[in-house]
Amino acid sequence: MKILIKGGHVVDPANNRDEVCDILLEGTKIAKIAKKINCAAEKSIDATDKIVMPGLIDMHVHLREPGREDQETVASATSAALKGGITSVLAMPNTSVPIDCAENAELLKAIIKKTAHATVLIAGTITEGRRGEKLTNIAKLKKGGVIAISDDGSSVDNGQVLLKALKLAKENKLLVICHSEDKALSGHGMVNSGITSTRMGLRGISSESEYKRVQRDVGLAEKAKAPIHIAHVSCKESVEIIRKAKKIGIKVTAETAPHYFALTEQEVLGFDTNMKMNPPLRSRDDAEAIKQGLRDGTIDAIASDHAPHTESEKDIEFERAQFGVIGLETELAASVTELVEKEVLDWTGLVRKLAVNPAKILGIDKGTLGIGCDADIIVVAPEEEWLVEKNRFLSKSKNSPFIGKKLKSTVEYTICQGKIVYQAR
Ligand SMILES: [Zn+2]
Repeated sequence: MKILIKGGHVVDPANNRDEVCDILLEGTKIAKIAKKINCAAEKSIDATDKIVMPGLIDMHVHLREPGREDQETVASATSAALKGGITSVLAMPNTSVPIDCAENAELLKAIIKKTAHATVLIAGTITEGRRGEKLTNIAKLKKGGVIAISDDGSSVDNGQVLLKALKLAKENKLLVICHSEDKALSGHGMVNSGITSTRMGLRGISSESEYKRVQRDVGLAEKAKAPIHIAHVSCKESVEIIRKAKKIGIKVTAETAPHYFALTEQEVLGFDTNMKMNPPLRSRDDAEAIKQGLRDGTIDAIASDHAPHTESEKDIEFERAQFGVIGLETELAASVTELVEKEVLDWTGLVRKLAVNPAKILGIDKGTLGIGCDADIIVVAPEEEWLVEKNRFLSKSKNSPFIGKKLKSTVEYTICQGKIVYQAR
C-alpha cells in the first residue's frame, strides 16, 4: 500500500524540516520526502494548509486494563489516542493487577496484541505491588518487554530502595519514572494548598509535597549516576530544581500535562470533580513557570496522564471523588491553544515536546519522519476550532477538565505504521 500526502506543511524537528512538501509512505515505512512527488499511490491525501508531523508519543497513560475495564480498555484508550493524534502510548503499571512481574507484563502484552489500535509500550513497577518495599525483578521485567519502571500513583518513600532501583535500571537500560510526592506532606489533601484550600474548606496539597520529593529523587539520580524522569511536574519550585539539576549535568528529564499549563486552581473553586487530580491544579504563577520550563527546555515532554474514572467515581461529592482526568483526545489541541497560539512554543517546539523528546527519553526509534522510519504520521488542521463535548469522547470515561472549553486544531488523519487508522468526519 502506498499513501501520498501532498502539499502539507511538514514539521519534523528531528530532521530540521519545516517546509511545504510531499511525503510518500510505502508499506509500514516512510519511503520518500520531496518538494514534489509524482507517483501512483492507492491513496492520496491533500494536506494543503495542514500541518503534517510525526504521530505523538504519550509517555504517561493509564489504560486500566487488566482489572478495571469499566473505566477503560486497551482498545478504547488506543481509539481515543488515535483521535488525539497519538500513535504510541506508554502504559503505566498501576493497574489493579499491577505490572510487577514478567508474567503480568506478558498478560498485558497478549491483550495489546489482540486489541490495541496504536503502539502500546509497557512500564513495570519499581516495587512489588507498588508497596515501596521490595524491588521487583527488574532484569526479568526487562525480558518481559517493559521499557520503563515506575511506582506511579505513589512515590517510593524509602530512598535506599529507589537508589538501588536506579542502579539496577541503569544496568538493564530501563528508564525510572518518578511520581514525586511526599505523602507525609500531602496527606489527605484534595486541592492546591493556600487560598484555594481555605476558600473551599478542604485540605490542601502543598507544592512542597512535590518539590521536596523532586529534590530528593534528582539527588538520588546523581548519586546513582543514572537517568531519572520526573512525571507530571506541576509547580514552579520543581521546575527550578530540575533546571538547576540539568545545569550541573544530572541526567534528569521531566514531563508536564496540559492541564498544568492550560488551567489553574481557579477552575476548581466550583467543586467540579473533573478538575480534581493529583498533583492538583496550581496557581497562575506555577502555570507560567511550567510554560517557561517548556520554553527553555527544562521540561522535555508533554504527556496526558490520562486517568479514566467512571461517572460513579466522579459524579459524587468532591471529597469522595477520585483523583485524575482523561487527556488523550485533548492533549494536542490544549497544547496548541495554550502554547502555540500564545507563542510559548512554535510548531517545531511543540513537536519536540509531544513526539521527539518522549521517543528519545524512552529510547524508541520513533518521533521522526526520516526515510525508512515507521510511518506514524498525523495531519492536523491548525486553524480548526472545536468545543469539547462530553458525549464526543471515544474514551470509555468522560472525566475531562476541558469539557465546555473551545480548543484550537483538530486531527484530520492519523496514520500508524503506514495505515490510516483515524480519519475525521
Ligand atoms: Zn503519578
